Amino acid sequence: MLLLCLGILLQLVVQPQCCATSTKMLSMENIELLISEDEIKSKIAETARVINTEYKGQELVVVMVMKGALCITADLIRELEVPCEIEAVTASSYGQRGTSRGELKISGVDELNLAGKNVLLVDDIFDSGETVWQIVKRLKEKNPKSIKTFVLLVKNVERTLDYEPDYALFHIENRFVVGYGLDYKEYYRGLRGVYAFK
Ligand code: 5GP
Ligand code: MG
Repeated sequence: MLLLCLGILLQLVVQPQCCATSTKMLSMENIELLISEDEIKSKIAETARVINTEYKGQELVVVMVMKGALCITADLIRELEVPCEIEAVTASSYGQRGTSRGELKISGVDELNLAGKNVLLVDDIFDSGETVWQIVKRLKEKNPKSIKTFVLLVKNVERTLDYEPDYALFHIENRFVVGYGLDYKEYYRGLRGVYAFK
């Protein structure tokens, strides 16, 4: 009986420590707000109005780049008045490495049927631009009628690439950012705004 009580007591003590470890990963003390939820919302609405005019009377296939474009796509499609299909491709270059880049892997393109369709590729952030550009090249092989790109953020860095996204909501300085879909080792994606590490 004494052992059982001790066991329960031990569990109660150990449990909060586990939670504390995971909340430490999600600590808000290490990050500062760069772009608020309201700023994002109004910029999406503004840009969606442009897209609605541009594609009036036509249809659109919105291809989101998982997982970072999750939030921006969910909010964008609710502002679109043009009928649209939603598709997804996956690109990963950071993964569990956190802030250091690995090899770019793209999947999900082969399954897409884009022939003769207007495509809008949506990604979270345009840094070197390689991810968006490599996906654009792969999507073009599917013979779409048109292809444009939409990104939440563009980093102010020198780029060798001769390509710019068609729609870019915010330009930010060269810092590692999280929130609103963007992660650090898969954490922080659910934050409502965009944050940078201090
Ligand atoms: P790029 O290929 O343009 O250099 O990098 C684009 C991809 O790298 C983005 O789709 C995003 O997943 C990731 N990335 C680049 N910069 C950041 C950043 O500051 N924060 C996070 N979380 N991901 C980033
Ligand atoms: Mg990404």
